[in-house]
Amino acid sequence: MNTHRFNGFALGEPILKALSEQGYQTPTDIQKAAIPVLLEGKDLFASAQTGTGKTAAFSLPMLKLLNERRSACPKGKPAIRALILTPTRELALQIEESLQAYGRHLPLRTAVVLGGVGAAGQIAALRKNPDILVATPGRFLDLYQQGHIHLKQVEMLVLDEADRMLDMGFIHDVRKIIAKVPTERQTMLFSATLPPAVMQLASTMLKDPASISVTPTVTVAENITQKVLFVEQTDKNNLLKNVLSDKTIKKALVFTRTKHKAQRLSQQLSKLGISADSIHSNKTQGARQRALDAFDRGRIKVLVATDIVARGIDVDGITHVINYELPNEPESYVHRIGRTARAGADGIALSFCDSNELPLLGGIQKFTKSELPAMEDHPFHSSEIAMLRSLYSGTPKPAAPAARGHRRSSGRRPARRRVANWQR
Ligand code: AMP
Repeated sequence: MNTHRFNGFALGEPILKALSEQGYQTPTDIQKAAIPVLLEGKDLFASAQTGTGKTAAFSLPMLKLLNERRSACPKGKPAIRALILTPTRELALQIEESLQAYGRHLPLRTAVVLGGVGAAGQIAALRKNPDILVATPGRFLDLYQQGHIHLKQVEMLVLDEADRMLDMGFIHDVRKIIAKVPTERQTMLFSATLPPAVMQLASTMLKDPASISVTPTVTVAENITQKVLFVEQTDKNNLLKNVLSDKTIKKALVFTRTKHKAQRLSQQLSKLGISADSIHSNKTQGARQRALDAFDRGRIKVLVATDIVARGIDVDGITHVINYELPNEPESYVHRIGRTARAGADGIALSFCDSNELPLLGGIQKFTKSELPAMEDHPFHSSEIAMLRSLYSGTPKPAAPAARGHRRSSGRRPARRRVANWQR
């Protein structure tokens, strides 16, 4: 079998046509490895993250097999035959969009159920008997308990981003859902990392699975100019304000680690007359979509986001990515800054780094195998933190940042203690 081209797989004309319309020419590594085993009906345990092409890796064989078996469906009411569980609303929507694109020449229906929006539209979609259901766990269970979802005919189950499900506290919901799906099924589990809880879940839900591990090629586009700005934690808001006064900034995506910080920061920016909104998992789906549309259309200049929802952001023309807080995972750094410099444009990525974040900076540098150049010509530059940097560069294992208020390791007082009114 020639797996270097999609037509080397027995996916069938309608799917190959859709792929060519999508502009896909060659399968990604995970697609090369997963499509043949899934077409054989085997279970799959894949260690892969977003960006590797994992959605198509499971969607293409799923569409092909479900379509083939359509005529074998038991007489009577058609029902859900494939269930895809995913942790975030954005991912659920993205997966459904992909299924519709790849399956556009097939007579299969898809539906999505997710929280944060009214349930009426989703219930109506379920009444149309979709072949494939994409769901986030909470809303799924609500609608299941209300009797809107029937799982007796499910023959394929996908658990996407299993590690994120655990992080987000969905594991009990996930276990409950799995227990309701017929045991005679093909199961696929995807996870970016493999903590013991994911391994345990895999051992209970998969039968003799094919195991695949793909490491994404983490490359930072050359047209992104990266800088690190050393700054006391208490000066970060003033530094952000200073940076945002630059007229060359057309659209800035600002990242924080927590949803509370994202919410507060966007409110603080708005109060300063800087058009801003935030996108995080505490917001309703409608509010997230409105913020994203306003940012996309240029009605707001700044969008403050957390990593969890950042994966769904696909906006052109982002001139600057600002890491107000460094991410806990070095991979997220590459993912975040890749939101700028799209479609051949240039982009700027500025990372604010306080003393507690130096280990995270070391982790990022180790991961990207390059040293982030410092930008010192800003009014809040901390030469103390810049000096401490060398202690952490290339730290083997980045530690999580210490809790806020933790005494800095130098034991010295910070050079500057200015707290502007808008920070309080
Ligand atoms: P995923 O890892 O599934 O989130 O996919 C990441 C991105 O790669 C999505 O925008 C897909 O549309 C795109 N993609 C997936 N497979 C291919 C392929 N074989 N060729 C080109 N783009 C692809």
